[in-house]
Amino acid sequence: MPKFQSTQIHEFITQTCEAMGSAQREATLVADQLVEANLAGHDSHGVGMLPSYVDGVLNGRLQINSHPTVVVDNGALITFDGNAGYGQVNGFEAMQAATERAGEYGVAVVGLRNSYHIGRIGHWAEQCAASGYASLHLVNVIGHPPLVAAYGGAEARFGTNPFCAAVPGRNGRPGFLLDMATSIIAAGKARVAANKGVKVPPDTIIDADGNLTDDPNAFWYTDPSGRRGGALVAFGDHKGSGLAIMCELLGAALLGGETAHPKNARDGRIINNMLSVVIDPGAMGNAEAYLDEIEAFRDFVLESKLRADCDQILVPGQPEDVAREQRAEGFEVDPVTVDQLRNSAQRAGVSESVVRETFG
Ligand code: NAD
Repeated sequence: MPKFQSTQIHEFITQTCEAMGSAQREATLVADQLVEANLAGHDSHGVGMLPSYVDGVLNGRLQINSHPTVVVDNGALITFDGNAGYGQVNGFEAMQAATERAGEYGVAVVGLRNSYHIGRIGHWAEQCAASGYASLHLVNVIGHPPLVAAYGGAEARFGTNPFCAAVPGRNGRPGFLLDMATSIIAAGKARVAANKGVKVPPDTIIDADGNLTDDPNAFWYTDPSGRRGGALVAFGDHKGSGLAIMCELLGAALLGGETAHPKNARDGRIINNMLSVVIDPGAMGNAEAYLDEIEAFRDFVLESKLRADCDQILVPGQPEDVAREQRAEGFEVDPVTVDQLRNSAQRAGVSESVVRETFG
């Protein structure tokens, strides 16, 4: 598979966004997040998302050069409307406000509603951790048909609704970072698997007849009326399904955002709503004791005897750190995604020479 330097892909993304009219800062924020997702090992939220952003801009559903606007400002509590602008700008500016308010009040509760796709949620927890803050993020996904079935159901009723929580470590990086879709696999992972022609893990998809399967194409199946026939399975049976439902309610309804209900418009946009709670550890207790405590706990977890069928123990956030080390010299992009990128760059108006410089 073709391998690329992160700087090459970063440049390609900024050029594509700028060709469609984005200001340089916006294009850079988009490129930063997508490339960092690839580097963290999450190709589902990396450069492969760019074609859907190009579609969004060209069909007028993704607003360029837009900023989040304040809907409610009650000191430690702020709600923003993302105005269907780039999630990379909305997320960055909402987290900037969140860390400023957490510095002032010890805690900030920030709602971001109606943003275009905000990508890998761990990115926002990392921004909070870089300022020394712990954070929780509950997110829903609407705008396209639902993707995930409620426990017991065979039809999709909500999005892959990610949950993320992180505590800061000593070096401006999260000490622990849990960042996960509430479906067993993220929808993007089914897209990457279908593009590569490989299976997904067993029993992670429900086909149109209600059977569990490992075929990613069963998820993308749509009936002649255009209704999606497949669904993703929520993790942990009723527990993951319940957490996904709380992401709809706390992550969206509570802040005036829309839930994945059929009465809410479905026009093919990828809209996220996110509730973030950002906490200054120094304001809650003793910041130094807290850092000692999380390090001691990490050692205790990692020193456990291994389960018979496992060959290692990792803490949340560690797989991403391992991927960053492995991908420091570049990362692979599968040929189907490369074709999609070439095609979307042309539609965005990127010059043929830039496309050739990147992809040969
Ligand atoms: P994943 O299953 O790869 O990882 C989930 C979490 O588990 C991570 O915190 C990871 O560090 C940890 N982890 C992974 N393997 C581990 C192991 N062996 N031991 C211990 N911990 C381990 O992630 P996912 O659920 O596929 O989600 C991928 C990304 O998709 C996330 O970044 C998420 O934010 C993003 N996402 C975004 C949206 C959106 O609409 N914006 C929707 C869904 C998912």
